[in-house]
Amino acid sequence: MSDTYVCSVCREPTERSYGVRYIVLTCPACGWHGRHVHASLVPLLEQVPESERSDDWEDRPLDERLLEALQRGDITLRDTNV
Ligand SMILES: [Zn+2]
Repeated sequence: MSDTYVCSVCREPTERSYGVRYIVLTCPACGWHGRHVHASLVPLLEQVPESERSDDWEDRPLDERLLEALQRGDITLRDTNV
């Protein structure tokens, strides 16, 4: 069974069978080397209230947004399978 991870910058999907929240690799599409986050976590970002989003929210890498939202408690991993 494999999971899909998406590039924090361009959202290029990559299949891996790790079952973790994120993996570090070099993106084949944009060359970004860093965290690729589990695809199931990406929709959680939609749950972050507008009022909590910083001005550059949409421009920031997915991993930064996720870590910040988790830290603040805006989202939780309870409903995900990772
Ligand atoms: Zn990329």
